[in-house]
Amino acid sequence: MIVILKNDADKQKVEILAQWLQNQQVEIHKSVGEYTTVWGLVGDTSRIDTDLIEGLEIVEGVRRISEPYKQANRKFHPDDTVIDLGGGVKIGGGNFQFFAGPCSVEGEEQIIGIAESVKASGANVLRGGAFKPRTSPYAFQGMREDGLKLLLEAKKITGMPIVTEIMDASHIDLFEDVDVIQVGARNMQNFELLKELGKTDKPIFLKRGLSATIQELLMSAEYIMANGNNKVILCERGIRTFETATRNTLDLSAVPILKEKSHLPVVVDPSHASGIARLVKPMAYAAAACGADGIMIEVHNDPAKALCDGPQALTPEQFAEVTKGVEKIISAVKE
Ligand code: PEP
Ligand code: MN
Repeated sequence: MIVILKNDADKQKVEILAQWLQNQQVEIHKSVGEYTTVWGLVGDTSRIDTDLIEGLEIVEGVRRISEPYKQANRKFHPDDTVIDLGGGVKIGGGNFQFFAGPCSVEGEEQIIGIAESVKASGANVLRGGAFKPRTSPYAFQGMREDGLKLLLEAKKITGMPIVTEIMDASHIDLFEDVDVIQVGARNMQNFELLKELGKTDKPIFLKRGLSATIQELLMSAEYIMANGNNKVILCERGIRTFETATRNTLDLSAVPILKEKSHLPVVVDPSHASGIARLVKPMAYAAAACGADGIMIEVHNDPAKALCDGPQALTPEQFAEVTKGVEKIISAVKE
């Protein structure tokens, strides 16, 4: 249930209402916007009489919401959430960002070289996997802690915030200096991990599961938010369908739907969605045109020799072309 308070509501009366609601065993999540204050009531609201609350002079309106996610719900938080990804790099509410870098950190020269070139082409956040979720246990598993150290070095040199994937809650301490923690598609419903990440204050880059519905993605965001961390970025990275021409099927309609249903920023990853380098540019353009708040692209200095996901990686030069085109699309579709 959502309670919208009047702009000039008497503070004492507001406090009395809050006390009364808390006595009914519901928790109040307050969202104070520039023009409206919205309370999201979490718990069993079935016995609360909406007419009674609606009749109070301090209340503008009351709505029962049917979606099972509250904190991620736009009804509860009408304004777009803007998240600082580190060093003042913001996403959401009209701030668009490029996340770029290799699938995996493979060495010092590789990650620093790529970081410098993607930065020069307009990327503001460096991505790179240190802990890699691979289908085969015999495939390269990532440089792990050493990979994290190299990412931190690239951050020091370029000043770019970094995003990298976590696979297990027991690793959280290792991510202390990481700016944004990625939860990969395969862990989208690792609820214990989500709960632990909810106790941190880091932005969480949450990728849609391989066969997850939009509502399931939002429920996973809710797990993080219900544990105290509101800084969640949603990522559409393609879903598994019967189609085999691409690695996954990019569900672009998820972007406007997510933005309608939620206030959280939405990023599109055309690299994992298509699995094919030449499709990354057109899909990135489409993502920008349909309202994404950012794009994540895999970039490698030598895609043919990449230890992971080479066929979908762009060279730094190809990435530079994409950023230029995307900028044009963003200004063309701006209202
Ligand atoms: C990645 O971003 O490198 C990755 C493994 O992506 P996903 O979890 O979307 O497969
Ligand atoms: Mn990858």
